[in-house]
Amino acid sequence: MKQYILWLALAISAPAIAQTLPASLVITSERSNFEKTSTHRDVMDFIEVVKGKSQDIHVFSMGKSQEGKDIPVVVMARPRVQTPEEAKASGKMIVYIQGNIHAGEVEGKEALLMLMRDILLGDKQHLLENQIILFAPIYNTDSNDKMEKGRRPSQEDSPLEVGIRENSQGLDLNRDGVKMEAFETNHLFQNVVVPWDPQVFVDLHTTNGTWHAWNLTWAPSYHYAGERGPYDYIVNTMLKSITETVKQKYDLNFGPYGDYDVRQGWPPKNFYTYNHHPRYLVNQFSLRNRIAILSEAFSHERFYQRIHSTYAFVNEILTYTKTHGDEIRAVNKKAEEQTISQIASHAGKIKKGVRFKMVPLQTLPELPTYDYVVTTKADGSPDYLRTGNIIRAKDVTYYAKFDAEIESTVPKGYVIPAEFSAVAENLRKHGVVVTTLGQSKSFEGEVFLVDKYEKAARKFEGHFMAKVQGSFSSTRKKFNKGDYVVDLAQPLGNLAFYLLEPQSDDGYVRWNFFDGPLEKQAGNKKVEYPVFKYY
Ligand SMILES: [Zn+2]
Repeated sequence: MKQYILWLALAISAPAIAQTLPASLVITSERSNFEKTSTHRDVMDFIEVVKGKSQDIHVFSMGKSQEGKDIPVVVMARPRVQTPEEAKASGKMIVYIQGNIHAGEVEGKEALLMLMRDILLGDKQHLLENQIILFAPIYNTDSNDKMEKGRRPSQEDSPLEVGIRENSQGLDLNRDGVKMEAFETNHLFQNVVVPWDPQVFVDLHTTNGTWHAWNLTWAPSYHYAGERGPYDYIVNTMLKSITETVKQKYDLNFGPYGDYDVRQGWPPKNFYTYNHHPRYLVNQFSLRNRIAILSEAFSHERFYQRIHSTYAFVNEILTYTKTHGDEIRAVNKKAEEQTISQIASHAGKIKKGVRFKMVPLQTLPELPTYDYVVTTKADGSPDYLRTGNIIRAKDVTYYAKFDAEIESTVPKGYVIPAEFSAVAENLRKHGVVVTTLGQSKSFEGEVFLVDKYEKAARKFEGHFMAKVQGSFSSTRKKFNKGDYVVDLAQPLGNLAFYLLEPQSDDGYVRWNFFDGPLEKQAGNKKVEYPVFKYY
């Protein structure tokens, strides 16, 4: 028996890298017995060490944070590539993965540093055979270093101290995908997403919600105003396959992201994902005809376990993209072609959702979760106390589908008056092609007449978010030299449609880009939404 255990221990620790690792390649979390997480300085120093030992790495700064810290991007390719042009010319698939968008959720940062070491110098070198891998391990640089104990109580003080969620401007970087007010978002789109155009985007988090009993949960890019191909592929093919692989290879249990509410009764009958808004970076990629994945390590496990699950997930994503690169690119390309071709053939005839509600997607036969016992409080109301037992709740309804509550006709394009240059600028930052009229021109189309304009009572991310009601009306309108035109027959046509539609639940109206003219709406007085739809 003893001999068997010894053999088993050797078999488990077989990968040789731990035995031959020079001290300079040990990262902070490993060196501290997982009591500490890497600082920005630690990350920069580690990247320098790896750079000195590998031919296959190029490092650039995505840009600087408000505090002036460089956000490093590590480009791994064999042979090395240094520019997006070289990457495109190589014909290889590009995958981009980032950690630390919320700087209290540090597992992605550590896992990416370990993987970088193993891909460039260790036993994962095969991952570079036919793809280019970009890692941004520390996206939220400033807040990572504002470490203090007790910031994330759900993480059991493991590691002992972590940084804060928002960036230095007080913004949540995973709510900034539309308005783009953070330094980081601007750098990410300008210097990574638009020029490198990764086929796969992965955002690494750690959830502090429900005590489900999965080691890690995932979500696809949800946006239903995009083409369905990439979404279907992520959920039904790619994540399904990876979930099975991690079970077989590592005995890790992965499942779909969500939360239940114990107050609805126990055991849980409903499990809810988050939502579809493209302010969340991952959700934007469905509108960009690209594959994207949200990864959420389970915060109630110990730090080393969360790193292990995240490492396994990223490793298997990269193994999958290596073997299915052509398939992924074909799915994305088809979605892009459909986006463009539907404008030529169906503009003015088809409708797409602009406002959505979450509805059931499927019944989960089993949801593993920590058990709760119900007691009674002094006032007689039920109190739910968590236990250490894991149960399997049966037949749980999973809410992860988004049905359109409001649909709108897809036009040939939009005209935006010149005074709304902030809108044109934001579209361009996303990569949307915006042209200007060289001379005045009349358009046949529709205006949206707003008969109700509402603003939220509470601020969210610095905004009193807005909402309109109204109706479209056919008309002809003349626009002037210098006004902006967005032709939807372009790769990012679905993104432009969703952002510019007045009733969109995460578009420019919501984020106050049109407050000026729309605030004039009062009582029965209608005002015109300034963006014109042409057919
Ligand atoms: Zn997060």
